[in-house]
Amino acid sequence: MLRLRDVTKTYGSAVTALDHVSLDIEAGELVAIVGPSGSGKSTLLNIMGTLDTPSSGTVEIAGRNAAGLSDRNLSLLRARWLGFVFQHFHLTEGLSAAENVSTGLLYSGVPRRRRHPLACEALERVGMGHRVSHMPHQLSGGERQRVAIARALVNTPALVLADEPTGALDTANGQAVLDLLTQLNDEGTTIAVITHDRDIAASLPRRIEMRDGRMTADSAAGATV
Ligand code: ADP
Repeated sequence: MLRLRDVTKTYGSAVTALDHVSLDIEAGELVAIVGPSGSGKSTLLNIMGTLDTPSSGTVEIAGRNAAGLSDRNLSLLRARWLGFVFQHFHLTEGLSAAENVSTGLLYSGVPRRRRHPLACEALERVGMGHRVSHMPHQLSGGERQRVAIARALVNTPALVLADEPTGALDTANGQAVLDLLTQLNDEGTTIAVITHDRDIAASLPRRIEMRDGRMTADSAAGATV
């Protein structure tokens, strides 16, 4: 599903945010990427999501090499294969829950009249079928994150990338979002979750540890790498 080979990311000559990272994520996995602040997690997620390009090394998504694609083709690749969930939800005020979810279909080629029913289906999947017409400011933090997860799912992506999805939530709502991600994974969605929270990471089936831009452990490898 996702293949990174020898990926390095430097900023200027002083900062090495990622240092020769190689990583495979297979279809059906639920992976935690864990590490302290500044260890390179966000840089890794941005490169996995083709939002950023590596200084060297290769990124393949569903068999497609991201290098050399035009901006337009990269956008299409993201729209077709990837879903994103952010710490602070990134919903648009002034759009209803269903309209926010529909924005996940903008670049997917789905005709306009099909978008609303698909958005409502995605909201049903995340337990928000009773809130399709609510505006973001009428929803709790946990509910907003559910809407954001529905937006990430609406296009049935091959891989969902979640950057600290529970980071802005209280413990109960955070656990509910984690349970939802686990449920979606049980239903077949491949998910990578960034977290600095070791308890969250410990509850997920595979853990990749980052430190100083390096992968220091991968539980799938069964040993420190
Ligand atoms: P994390 O997500 O684990 O907190 P990041 O990937 O955000 O870590 O950052 C990794 C390292 O790269 C840090 O030392 C950070 O300061 C540096 N870094 C990240 N983005 C930039 C940037 N745009 N310019 C310069 N340095 C950056």
